[in-house]
Amino acid sequence: MIALTGTLVDAQRTLRDVAVIVESGIIRAVVPADELREYGVDKVYGGRGYLILPGLVNAHTHVAMARFRGLGEDVPIERWLNEIIWPAELEWDPKEIRRWALLGMAEALANGSTTINDHYFFANEIAEVAQKLGIRAFIGQTIMDEVDFPIASPEEGFRFFKRWDGKDDLVRPTLAPHATNTVSLELMKEIGEFARERDALIHVHLSQSRGEVETVKRRYGLTPVEYLKRAGVLNERLIGVHGIYLGDSEVELYSRSGATLVHCSLSMAKLEGRIAPIIELAERGTNIALGNDSPNPVGLMDMFEEMRFAAVLNKVWRKRTDVASAREVFRWATVGGAKALGLRAGLVKPGYLADLILIDARKPQFLPGENPYSHVVYSARGSDVEMVMVNGEVVYRNGLLTKIGKTLGELWGETEKNLAT
Ligand SMILES: [Zn+2]
Repeated sequence: MIALTGTLVDAQRTLRDVAVIVESGIIRAVVPADELREYGVDKVYGGRGYLILPGLVNAHTHVAMARFRGLGEDVPIERWLNEIIWPAELEWDPKEIRRWALLGMAEALANGSTTINDHYFFANEIAEVAQKLGIRAFIGQTIMDEVDFPIASPEEGFRFFKRWDGKDDLVRPTLAPHATNTVSLELMKEIGEFARERDALIHVHLSQSRGEVETVKRRYGLTPVEYLKRAGVLNERLIGVHGIYLGDSEVELYSRSGATLVHCSLSMAKLEGRIAPIIELAERGTNIALGNDSPNPVGLMDMFEEMRFAAVLNKVWRKRTDVASAREVFRWATVGGAKALGLRAGLVKPGYLADLILIDARKPQFLPGENPYSHVVYSARGSDVEMVMVNGEVVYRNGLLTKIGKTLGELWGETEKNLAT
């Protein structure tokens, strides 16, 4: 048994001076810290001044794109994708993918993401990297048929799912059609049927550019959300990402469907200068999750930063300051992501998965400490995370990625050396 002590902060409650007791991958009990001695635990982490949080669920990532960090800044999304990112991606080989997926994944993990939901090519390589690192990972092989892109074939997408379905407790496959304009309606229907048969999650970019909306309209006379409905995939198994051009009728339709919308405010603000109608979606009952998207364009896989931007940008977007409270945004980053992925996680409660992070809050910015939600969203950074536990196992602590036995600095060194040769 392992215990974490400090102040518990989850989206439902905050409790001072508690011990969270973990056994066999599950949170067994939350007790006052002074009762800890009754439990005979083997190891205690944290202490006074520490915050115990549920692990952050990074509900949309492309971790291997760490390779492209800083490439093609300050251009519109379609140019960014067509002229910069896609040509670079056609150069990938499996070895390089492994190297950069590990770097991007380690970065997300060390900054407090216990789960990622990744959407990329060479998914098999990425899944193997996740297994080694010990992160909880949902991984989908990107599928496209409206764009000639050999590494995104539908066959490989289905094959990847079958290969990994039921193979690993922590690494689970999804279906990952690229977007509503890059996947034909026929193929999306096929993906929907497969998802129903196998109870699979579908992870798709949605309404992320004006061009996407125009293309779907021209081809089918539909909005992107209507297209998803027509394809039979608009339901609680769908994880739609971005949605920055959703119209009012789409917000209504989407909110009734049970699907999740992943909000990546920083990425969309940078690439398109706008964000999704998150407040409208949330008010109508849509489950909202947060994601970093990718190291290009955001620059840093840190969900604390993502929370902070989501809180601030929604206020600017709506021109109201009484929306996207710190507690609400924290809920999106934890409970919202866990719900989207069907995980019993996101809260620090007995019976929940022991996916937890420990923040060393013995620093000036964490005082006076009376409003922990504010401190988590507005004062904390990924670098304040001292320890990350996934499934009851410590996978990161004080700079060391324990499963692979390397520090972040050593990982940097290996990758940098390879870049130079
Ligand atoms: Zn994306």
